[in-house]
Amino acid sequence: MAQFRFKALDEVLNRKPIEIERENNLVSDYYGMLVFDQAKMKKYLSREAYKAVTDAVERGTIIDRKMADQVAQGMKAWAIENGATHYTHWFHPLTDGTAEKHDAFIVHGADGSVIESFSGTLLAQQEPDASSFPSGGIRQTFEARGYTAWDPSSPAFISETTLTIPTIFISYTGEALDYKTPLLRALNTIDKAATGVCQYFDKNVSRVTANLGWEQEYFLIDEALYMARPDLMLTGRTLMGHASSKDQQLDDHYFSSIPTRVNKFMQDVENEAYKLGIPVKTRHNEVAPNQFELAPIYEEANLANDHNQLCMDIMQKIARRHKFRILFHEKPFAGINGSGKHNNWSLSTNTGVNLYSPGKNPKSNLQFLTFVINTLKAVFDNQDLLRASILTSSNQHRLGANEAPPSIISVFLGTEVSAMLDLMEEAVVDRKMTPDEKTALKLNIGRIPEIILDNTDRNRTSPFAFTGNRFEFRAVGSMANNASALIVLNTAVADQLKKFKAEVDAHIEKGVKKDEAIFQVLKTLIIDTKPIRFNGDGYSVDWVKEAEKRGLSNIGNVPDSLAAYLREDYIDLFKRNGIFNKTEIEGRVEVEYEKFIMKVQIESRVLADIAINHIVPTAVEYQTMLLENVKNLKEVFPEEEFLSLAGGRLDLIREVGSHISAIKAKRKEMIAARSKANKVEDVIDRSKEYDKEVRPFLDDIRDHIDRLELIVDNEKWPLPKYRELLFIR
Ligand code: ADP
Ligand code: MG
Repeated sequence: MAQFRFKALDEVLNRKPIEIERENNLVSDYYGMLVFDQAKMKKYLSREAYKAVTDAVERGTIIDRKMADQVAQGMKAWAIENGATHYTHWFHPLTDGTAEKHDAFIVHGADGSVIESFSGTLLAQQEPDASSFPSGGIRQTFEARGYTAWDPSSPAFISETTLTIPTIFISYTGEALDYKTPLLRALNTIDKAATGVCQYFDKNVSRVTANLGWEQEYFLIDEALYMARPDLMLTGRTLMGHASSKDQQLDDHYFSSIPTRVNKFMQDVENEAYKLGIPVKTRHNEVAPNQFELAPIYEEANLANDHNQLCMDIMQKIARRHKFRILFHEKPFAGINGSGKHNNWSLSTNTGVNLYSPGKNPKSNLQFLTFVINTLKAVFDNQDLLRASILTSSNQHRLGANEAPPSIISVFLGTEVSAMLDLMEEAVVDRKMTPDEKTALKLNIGRIPEIILDNTDRNRTSPFAFTGNRFEFRAVGSMANNASALIVLNTAVADQLKKFKAEVDAHIEKGVKKDEAIFQVLKTLIIDTKPIRFNGDGYSVDWVKEAEKRGLSNIGNVPDSLAAYLREDYIDLFKRNGIFNKTEIEGRVEVEYEKFIMKVQIESRVLADIAINHIVPTAVEYQTMLLENVKNLKEVFPEEEFLSLAGGRLDLIREVGSHISAIKAKRKEMIAARSKANKVEDVIDRSKEYDKEVRPFLDDIRDHIDRLELIVDNEKWPLPKYRELLFIR
């Protein structure tokens, strides 16, 4: 039974760090060598084609057919010179991961030979046979086909031998079937809204860009051990396994010396990432054993998100080269930290100003406060939507598990900014302010230190924290496509900025001076948003009670959380900002409900299989061994002596027996619960049934298995144990 486990352990004993082939020169010499970036466009494109692309990127203009043809020729020439034989449209469907279908450049030439060919049409648009991607019924309702369309704002790159073109994926009737389309819409909306507000402070601002710096956490597990764990292979997390006696209690993994095998893996990933123009910067050991983190320098949000998806893909591939498997699941192991993907988010102007950085004078600080306070209001009004954007079946295990932000959305501002908000609330009076009052307030606003990074408390327990020059949305899951969170965040903030501008303009129209109008509206927002401000410990029990008193919502399960998307006010938010129409939201939410159901269903099947095919036979074998021993003792010893010698074993036999019976019975009940749930027609009701009636069995059955693991002879235990998975590297 336990052969596979011991064979795996044997194999692991012989692992050596894999030597990697690194480019020899400086990183800055080969950075972006596989990307069709500005420099290469300049070289390979005519001046007008180059301008067509940069205009499209900077101003959203359309690239016409003739120009697209020219761009395609340049791209092809560059790609072929760099070893590409194929091209593909690369997109982000509503699954976990990206999609690509490669086509060779070759076409038949005149004389039966083949030649390499690529055109503007092929660059701009493709129609993959995409009927198997989830669409939540959108394509059934409208048109069966979907097509991909070039996103010139994210440069093409070469992956192995394929020219890869980032694209959006939409239905023939224009409905978004992916993550990128609505993200681009949201980024466009926040550009307009934020630019409008910036006009109060600086007329030179004509464009605002949203930035994203992601921090990717992950686990690395030795390949042989991973293969011996069907649960890891099929669900990405361990469905059973008793805690290791030692795991993260001593905090001795966090930031400690990086194990050599892992370090080689990281260098290999970085090397590839640099070639692809992904500015990865930080690497370190995380809190849990065998948990690590990778973070790049932040970039424009759409590009940064493409880079995150691409990087996850590279990491998966390179992990195999190093005989590791990478786990992006938010909670691969019970009882120790899970993985997140902090989304560091900010807005910056074409004039080079970070709108979330305090400035040098009262005016720039008032602009800073305007953006901070409006963000606060956006988070307050859209807390349920923000949660819905990040709460998934896997992230559910992480949130609220005393290591990650709870399922209550709150905002941490730090002492400095909080104090400034309190001061403003008091200093702005309801009547017209006197010149002295205004001057005093402006002076105070001017006093916010330019760099408050060092004195923010860096509260790690907040789901949404201000960290000196950006907000950090920490509740995002490590497996997630960041777009899900970014769509909601950017839309919510854009919408609030528009409302803010409308209100300030209304005051100005009534004859109030601009700065006073801004003060007044900000004051009402400061008062409105008090409940969402929380600088304390987000993990504490007291906070749950306090949050309830404040009227903040606290939803920990996926079905109820997802329901937010279908609320009329939120549907309207998406509609009026041009992000989703109702059909798109409904389609998307259906996909999410289905995903949740499928994932719970798969976990339940895998656990049932492990329980009955791996654990029960092992336990029975061990029990039989005990019985043999007891029988022998009985034969040899007189009754009284036998009882004192075998008493403990008799108890053990009963205990093993009771776990076996419980596992078998609960497995049956779980299967029955599943078939009952499967019969529920409505997808929302079905997901609730899965959540309430099926999911609890996973913990229940696991509990019996984990107890058996502590009893059964180690030599017989079939699946690698937590200590082996977590400490071998
Ligand atoms: P920590 O773990 O201390 O939060 P890291 O250095 O691991 O910090 O990650 C911080 C991330 O935030 C990086 O990706 C960094 O580039 C990004 N970041 C820094 N400044 C900004 C900003 N103004 N806007 C968006 N992201 C930023
Ligand atoms: Mg961080």
